[in-house]
Amino acid sequence: MNEFTPWHYETLGTKTVEALKKNGFEAEWCATGAEAKEKILELIPEGAEVGFGGSWTVKALGIADALAEKGITLLDHGAPGLTNEERQEIRKKQLTCDVFLTGTNAVTMNGELVNTDGVGNRVAAMIFGPGKVIVVMGANKIVQDLDEAFQRIERVAAPINNKRLGTPNPCTQTGICMDCQGPTRICNITTVLWKRPKATNFHVILVGEELGF
Ligand code: SF4
Repeated sequence: MNEFTPWHYETLGTKTVEALKKNGFEAEWCATGAEAKEKILELIPEGAEVGFGGSWTVKALGIADALAEKGITLLDHGAPGLTNEERQEIRKKQLTCDVFLTGTNAVTMNGELVNTDGVGNRVAAMIFGPGKVIVVMGANKIVQDLDEAFQRIERVAAPINNKRLGTPNPCTQTGICMDCQGPTRICNITTVLWKRPKATNFHVILVGEELGF
């Protein structure tokens, strides 16, 4: 990375952290992924049951391996070799786990979290159920406002996630949303967390690096 991008990330990121705090979230800025990983591990108690929302950012930070060293296995519905029934069972367990760990599709500079799901288990677990929710994201997820958040999801997050998942949806060819209507569409539910969900202990960690899509 050049020397100017970290400055830009920090300038926008620290303002976004303040906006998140005003909206009731516990939020903090971490300059590097290594710092963020350390913080996340501090927030997860020994023996906790940890749900995993399928975030590329969480994978990139190597948190699964670090938790495994502490004897904690993630409830990961995307783990290889699972049947559809097993995947569904894990999604249900995520809704009542001790800690739910995920990324986000966008965060606005007004302190709102915006996410689009196909099944809805990730956004549901972010709202109510788990004892604690931890959301981690790179500064590349920062957008000005909700309009820009929805554009980011259509132009960046959803097409790249389709490519990653190998879906047959048209955005895997065009690289932008084509508002497909078939059964494999992954954009079925969009949530905006304007403020912290009242009954949820919620930590947001914003990182001064490009992470995830
Ligand atoms: S609505 Fe369809 S085309 Fe648009 S991003 Fe989602 S899956 Fe791709």
